[in-house]
Amino acid sequence: MKIVDHIKNAKGKTLFSFELLPPAKGQGIQSIFKTMDELMEFRPPFIDVTYHREDYLYKQHDNGLLERVAYRKRPGTVAICAAIMSKYKVDAVPHLICGGFTKEETENALIDLNFLGIDNVLVLRGDARKGDSDFIPTPGGHAYATDLMQQVADMNRGQYLHEDIEISSKTDFCIGVAGYPEKHFESPNFNTDFKWLKKKVDMGAEFIVTQMFFDIEKYKSFVNKCRQHDIHIPIIPGLKPLTTKKQLIALPKIFHLDIPEELSDAVDQCKNNIEVQEVSTTWMVDMCQELIKFGAPVLHFYTMSNPGPTKKIVERLA
Ligand code: FAD
Repeated sequence: MKIVDHIKNAKGKTLFSFELLPPAKGQGIQSIFKTMDELMEFRPPFIDVTYHREDYLYKQHDNGLLERVAYRKRPGTVAICAAIMSKYKVDAVPHLICGGFTKEETENALIDLNFLGIDNVLVLRGDARKGDSDFIPTPGGHAYATDLMQQVADMNRGQYLHEDIEISSKTDFCIGVAGYPEKHFESPNFNTDFKWLKKKVDMGAEFIVTQMFFDIEKYKSFVNKCRQHDIHIPIIPGLKPLTTKKQLIALPKIFHLDIPEELSDAVDQCKNNIEVQEVSTTWMVDMCQELIKFGAPVLHFYTMSNPGPTKKIVERLA
């Protein structure tokens, strides 16, 4: 079922959903099932599965020359989505990224997703490769999420890449896109960021999932600004429980966000990570209660495939 229909059917009740990471190459599907088993009690209408671009490693040959080899640390997004849907009868939402894929590879992935009965996709540009300072598009691939949106929207109209005429087998993906309550870090200002977000909505995006944030006012202000920019689709808040002290430095660095002083001071005073998780749970429960009051359609948790901290929060809300 489409995410927008799940939201409609909930009739104003806030739902819970979760994001999982594909396990590192070599691990079995059991690690995904173990995480799913723990989360199913909250009846998530959908589960997101991230996509990861290839990274490079350098192999040294006997003659001293270095060879650059591309490899994917976390492959398997499409297969994991199929396995989740078949075992748990819950919708799986694969993330689709521009980086690392040609347009033809993207088309093939979308055809596979359509065969598998996957109704939703989250369309993203993807992060820069490890070691690259900027995002570099794959030759023959897309540079921005708007370009990838165009390809998915074209397929929803029955327009495939190398067909001159529209063919009858249209896909019918419900498309989600990313939103940034604290602005995307590459955007020169908020208005420019909203301009591109609005473009994605005009191209057919039906829901937005936000980057994580720790200050509810940032989400409220983002929703209000979206409405002012004539963006009226559901805006699903993305939530990340803090689990370690190190994240006070890592999360702002990686995701370009602020952690409020009250929270960072409280975490800083913790003696160990168990205390960090207690502080974080209390903070997140308060934030989630406010989000529910504000009318957030879904609370979407970035579990990092570690369900424990998320479970503690949702148990106190459910
Ligand atoms: P875009 O919409 O392409 O935006 C990138 C920047 O370019 C923005 O500053 C925007 O304002 C600007 N822009 C947009 N369109 C245009 C245009 N046509 N011309 C000029 N400028 C433009 N990364 C992964 O690698 N895998 C994942 O699974 C993944 N999942 C994510 C899930 C969520 C909910 C979120 C919020 C992020 C996720 N990311 C993931 C990270 C994401 O890929 C990065 O934040 C990336 O830097 C931007 O992605 P985007 O889709 O917002 O890009």
